Amino acid sequence: MSFFSELGLAEPILRALEAKGYNDPTPIQRQSIPALLEGRDLLGIAQTGTGKTAAFSLPSLHRLAADPKPRAPRSCRMLVLSPTRELAAQIADNMVGYAKFLNMSVMTVFGGVPVGKQISALGRGVDILVATPGRLLDLIEQRALVLDKVEIFVLDEADQMMDLGFIKPLTRIAGLLPRQRQSLFFSATMPDAIAQLGKRFITDPVKVEVAPQATTAARVDQYVTHVDQKEKQALLTITLKKGLESGELESCLVFTRTKHGADKVVRSLVAAGVEAAAIHGNKSQAQRTRALDGFRAGRVPVLVATDIAARGIDVPGVSAVFNFELPNVAEQYVHRIGRTARAGKGGLAISYVAGDERPFLRDIVKLTGVTPAAIALPKDFIEQAAKLPKASAKQLGAEHSDDNRSGGGNRRSRDAERKARGPRRHPGVEVRPRGEGGRGGSGSGGGRGRPQGQGGGQGGGQRQQSRSRPQTTSA
Ligand code: AMP
Repeated sequence: MSFFSELGLAEPILRALEAKGYNDPTPIQRQSIPALLEGRDLLGIAQTGTGKTAAFSLPSLHRLAADPKPRAPRSCRMLVLSPTRELAAQIADNMVGYAKFLNMSVMTVFGGVPVGKQISALGRGVDILVATPGRLLDLIEQRALVLDKVEIFVLDEADQMMDLGFIKPLTRIAGLLPRQRQSLFFSATMPDAIAQLGKRFITDPVKVEVAPQATTAARVDQYVTHVDQKEKQALLTITLKKGLESGELESCLVFTRTKHGADKVVRSLVAAGVEAAAIHGNKSQAQRTRALDGFRAGRVPVLVATDIAARGIDVPGVSAVFNFELPNVAEQYVHRIGRTARAGKGGLAISYVAGDERPFLRDIVKLTGVTPAAIALPKDFIEQAAKLPKASAKQLGAEHSDDNRSGGGNRRSRDAERKARGPRRHPGVEVRPRGEGGRGGSGSGGGRGRPQGQGGGQGGGQRQQSRSRPQTTSA
């Protein structure tokens, strides 16, 4: 008998949990399942990785199964709204697993894929619908779906919904739901605006908070390297190459701030022999799925993502999260590093911080209460960086017009700019522009351009964590 049975869940659900190998409910499951089984509304503050999908799915499946109804055309009994396609697909996958021994249909609808099939599938009616707001409204407008039979409504990742500007669609959707329903509202953070949004959806909710607001995933070892923006790519390539070759790193998520940035990182990594794929909003759904599947299956060890695409990605074995650029919203950092250390495992997060990102780092430290330890650049960083192949002009090709900025003439003018500016200073490391003297050219190389020791001046005077440095980014 599993501990789940003490929560009062039906036998077919317990069997499915057994098949999945779940023994104990996670804290959020323990706290929310009993109230949800009673039909209460719920306001949950929880990050992904806490088991919240099962927390809302299991009692909902139980209640729907306890009151079987024939499927009504163009209707659903449970509606789950997710901010991103990937999260929607993941939630639906989980629900299919939990509903394995129940006669319950689960369907996903999101944009980026043809709508025709979705319309015809909805025609027959479905028990559980997991959707992104935009496509859901499309389907409603096309009269492919009505929401008047919804008994359970789940709004997941509400703060992300806000960030993505889904407020209007959400308000519209809320107006189409029947008054008599059970509503569940989840958010990783609960600033005032989100709490206000919640009030529109939920009545007298049970409040469940599994971790204090915006607490950084406690099991994640966090580090920063202070590095010039233009040296970040070399540092990442060197670190990943070494880490993956030595087996210290297995699957790594790299976050960039922009879609074009993600593509560029992938091209540079691939040029250096590191297999990587990008996932972001400019990719087709098929490309996104392929990238994520390859990463999940371990075929592609590095996934480079923007925040939006990565939200909710649940890959149990992510060994490290790299913040190629820091997010300018501190909460986003918490989400990012939450991709590692999932389901009880430890994890590693390394952030590359350029001078102009220090204010973001200060916000993050303020929010999380954790000052990441600083790691110096590898001792022979300059030498290693010089050996790296540059992504060829062909690879830098015309996939996105913006990316062309990094090729040809503009690169030349940047190099000229660098030369004119002279050597730049890094914390603890003096760096000379690449290609100037030193390596081979002058023959001597002298002392210029060599690291002048590690750790000195790192972190802008920040207090370091007492842990030892990981091998992954040191020389
Ligand atoms: P979530 O926060 O819903 O994204 O879940 C995070 C991960 O934990 C998923 O891979 C789930 O399959 C897994 N999980 C959820 N509940 C349990 C449980 N009670 N025992 C073990 N793993 C779980």
